[in-house]
Amino acid sequence: MSTDPFMDALQQIVGPHGLVADSADRERFERDWRGNYPGRARAVVRPASTGEVAAVVRLCSEHHVPVVPQGGNTGLAGGSSPDDSGLEVVLSLTRMNRVRSISLADETIMVEAGCILQHVQEEAARHNRLFPLSLAAEGTATIGGNLSSNAGGEQVLRYGNARDLTLGLEVVLPDGRVWNGLSPLRKDNTGYDLKHLFIGGEGTLGVITAASLKLFPLPRHQCTAWLGLDTPRQAIDVLMLLRETLGDCVTSFELVGRATLDQVLARIDGTRAPLAEATPWSVLVEVSETARDTRLDARFEAALGDLLERGFVRDAVVAQSSEQAHALWHIRDHVPEAQRRDGPSIKHDLSVPISRIPEFIETTGAALAATFPGIRVICFGHVGDGNLHYNQSKPAHQSDAEFRAQIPRVHDIVHEQVARMHGSISAEHGIGRLKQDALMHYKSAVALDLMARVKRAIDPDNLFNPGRLLPAEAHHQGDIR
Ligand SMILES: Cc1cc2nc3c(=O)[nH]c(=O)nc-3n(C[C@H](O)[C@H](O)[C@H](O)COP(=O)(O)OP(=O)(O)OC[C@H]3O[C@@H](n4cnc5c(N)ncnc54)[C@H](O)[C@@H]3O)c2cc1C
Repeated sequence: MSTDPFMDALQQIVGPHGLVADSADRERFERDWRGNYPGRARAVVRPASTGEVAAVVRLCSEHHVPVVPQGGNTGLAGGSSPDDSGLEVVLSLTRMNRVRSISLADETIMVEAGCILQHVQEEAARHNRLFPLSLAAEGTATIGGNLSSNAGGEQVLRYGNARDLTLGLEVVLPDGRVWNGLSPLRKDNTGYDLKHLFIGGEGTLGVITAASLKLFPLPRHQCTAWLGLDTPRQAIDVLMLLRETLGDCVTSFELVGRATLDQVLARIDGTRAPLAEATPWSVLVEVSETARDTRLDARFEAALGDLLERGFVRDAVVAQSSEQAHALWHIRDHVPEAQRRDGPSIKHDLSVPISRIPEFIETTGAALAATFPGIRVICFGHVGDGNLHYNQSKPAHQSDAEFRAQIPRVHDIVHEQVARMHGSISAEHGIGRLKQDALMHYKSAVALDLMARVKRAIDPDNLFNPGRLLPAEAHHQGDIR
């Protein structure tokens, strides 16, 4: 027994395996993936069932202790780690990692929130089905975190984002009640669709404990190619033409700028340039088909041949084996890691209408270069969804401190362009603690007011992820702007 009744009660609920006591073991739960938000938790608790989650939440509510829900802790917006007050409890779902059921007739899989995304993909594949959510952190990120951040990733173009893939949820509410909305139904018009409040809710409204997810037929054929281009405009043209020719088969369409590719080749061992001659822009494209005997490879190669002939593409390489396809994806998936190894960077995860991507890249690049000579733009993204990761790396001549001092101004320049094009300042990573100022600035007063009212209605004491997504002050004010 300790001298802290709250800790004793927690221990009683979750047992000896459910509390992370050792301070070295706790560290990975207390700091975010990028290391930008190191914190200190009052406790790190790992319940093993929905009942235990509900009991922990009830206890926290009685003691007025804030709760930070956490999955794989790969989030990039500072929403999943505790602050440095030492008051918050990290509620990790990682022990809740069972697949509850799979139904081929319903084409659904029901999983607990702590299931690692890659394991869900593998379980689906074992049943000859596809769970299409796919992102570079899939070996660590969990379904609960994917849904709470409405993750996007590399196959949104064809299958949609986490929101589109979810049929039902089980959620523990801030007062400890459990909402069982684990429906496998594809149609249900009985009022407000409550699951959508929790998807993308960043853990501010409830703890997702399980989800019912959509499955798809497993593709039988897949082709992957790396295309070399001169301009982003060509990328948009190529996307349009490939979709006209191959329809829904176009599964991924990832843009990679030259500086981005160079950074990966320099920082990640074992990578090599896909094309003999470097081009200013590249696209990694994947097409897939579920039907038999479609001759997808021949259709794909004919479409690429046509694009080369008509000058939309300067050079192209088509993967001849799954190893070669993997090597191309390895480059794309290691862009964030290469940037991390390169030193400090400024990140933007934005979306604009697909048609305006070339204009965005041109005008924003020019504005940044004029204000910050030498700044390196690391631009890549899921361009088929209008989503760019538009980041900046430090020029060689600058100190880290000088570079960091520019962050607010760089954000302003980029976000102003996004707003001018009616885009979004967060396409897939969410708001967390990282983007609250921008949210307050760019979101409409009506939308902010509605969001604050929803939060107050469901979490009146502001105990779930306080100060993430919406600023803490917003909770107590009637009109937040
Ligand atoms: C290398 C790398 C690549 C990435 N690529 C992509 C990408 O392509 N697309 C993309 O969308 N994201 C990407 N991300 C961001 C991140 O992986 C995703 O946001 C992922 O969905 C987070 O899952 P997680 O389990 O790690 O969640 P966490 O980081 O643990 O949490 C994320 C948010 O969800 C909340 N949360 C977590 N679990 C629950 C739960 N069960 N109930 C309620 N709230 C919860 C947390 O409080 C936090 O606010 C990438 C990250 C890395 C490191």
